[in-house]
Amino acid sequence: MKPLIVANWKCNPITLREAEKLFDSIGKGIKNVKNSEVVICPPFVWLSNLLASKPYTLNPKLGAQDCFWEGKGAFTGEISPAMLKNLGVDYVIIGHSERRKYQREIDEMINKKLKALLGAGLKPILCVGSKDRNQKKEFKEIKIQLKNALSGIKKPNPKNIIITYEPVWAISTTEGRKIATSKKVKEGASFIRNILIKLFDKNFAHKIKIIYGGSVDSKNVREFLKEAQMAGVLVGAASLNPQEFIKAVKNASSP
Ligand code: PEP
Repeated sequence: MKPLIVANWKCNPITLREAEKLFDSIGKGIKNVKNSEVVICPPFVWLSNLLASKPYTLNPKLGAQDCFWEGKGAFTGEISPAMLKNLGVDYVIIGHSERRKYQREIDEMINKKLKALLGAGLKPILCVGSKDRNQKKEFKEIKIQLKNALSGIKKPNPKNIIITYEPVWAISTTEGRKIATSKKVKEGASFIRNILIKLFDKNFAHKIKIIYGGSVDSKNVREFLKEAQMAGVLVGAASLNPQEFIKAVKNASSP
């Protein structure tokens, strides 16, 4: 299976010119890469321009960093799944720890977003993770996040939903962050898979893509893909440096 490499630009860059430059450099750098699926998630405001300028058919695809759960109406400041679908977006990140922290997003909201995205024919990239380094507490929190986010959802096509295991303490901008070992990442993913077996079934749980996020770069990407056997990675800071991100994609894509 081709690894899925998702770039989360977060609240960067601050001008369209810079966004186009970054997107163009990445596009040129990975245009011959066929063994990975690359998704760039810029801020909403740059999506239309980047989609319009996109000269590449294969890679990269475009994603959004969040969405609202309603289609349209009196919801000031919100962006709906229908709008993203109509723009030509393929993927949408939801439940990122920074939104849980700064926007006080709770599982119930993430559940509504997940349902709305599946209904709109978009692929949610659901992030789960804890800031706790104690594995017992961490797993307890992840179990609750997963159960709540997937509550009331009939078994979807496993191709249509991606789960990201993202320990908050491993994110590059977390104070005192630690780099997760591939052993730790493998254990986290297998815990998630076991929850999915209980919530749905074995077949679903083995087909769904579980990717990893937390300080991924060109040097460690292969370790997470090969040793931890992840289906892909979510890349934050390193995706803002085109040369570094291109290298990470190439390293991830070589056999
Ligand atoms: C993220 O927060 O989604 C992320 C993966 O960040 P970083 O790669 O910078 O740790």
